[in-house]
Amino acid sequence: MKILIVEDEKILRDSLAEGLRLKGYAVDLAVDGEDAGEKVFCETYDLIILDLNLPKVDGFTVLENFRKENLDVPVLILSARDGIDDKVKGLDLGANDYLTKPFHFAEFEARVRSLLRRKTVVENAILSCGPLCFDTVTREVTAAGSPISLTLKESALLEYLLLHKGRVIKLEELIEHVWDIHADAFSNSVRVHMSSLRRKLKAGMGYDPITNRIGEGYVIREDDVV
Ligand code: CA
Repeated sequence: MKILIVEDEKILRDSLAEGLRLKGYAVDLAVDGEDAGEKVFCETYDLIILDLNLPKVDGFTVLENFRKENLDVPVLILSARDGIDDKVKGLDLGANDYLTKPFHFAEFEARVRSLLRRKTVVENAILSCGPLCFDTVTREVTAAGSPISLTLKESALLEYLLLHKGRVIKLEELIEHVWDIHADAFSNSVRVHMSSLRRKLKAGMGYDPITNRIGEGYVIREDDVV
């Protein structure tokens, strides 16, 4: 899952980014409204965290511009403005949620999870595939109750596949949603993480639930029949 944080206060921006990265999200940063506008149109995000008081172009205008372009990515507004008018205006412009500063990281993260789930219409915090369970809150992965230890990148790949269970996901799509702008996005690196993930799943589950369709992409399926 790839998230864009638009926030001009460096300390807050960096701490939110660090917190989200530790949870396995790919995170890009924008320091003002202009920077945000450019990134939003060049990259594919699963969620945008948007501050309102921004240099160059304010948050309301950023939001208005990309809703005009019909980008349906969920937006969580973060703002010190706690007036009801700002909340109403933000929601009317198409924001999906609103968090007033200061806030606790735990609440912020819960809202991030909820918005990402809403986007993919998954009601449950637990994603599953056969005996495999992925708890999106604790990030724990188990097979028939036994834990499988995954790296951040491996669990991010697995989460994306599980959210789109049964659909073949192109390598480019995985790179877009699981890797951030600065990461080594060469397809080889994705393949390395993917093969290590598949090895661990096979060891834990007794079979590899992920299939690589040559020239098409990867798919995770309930059964082990290819
Ligand atoms: Ca600000």
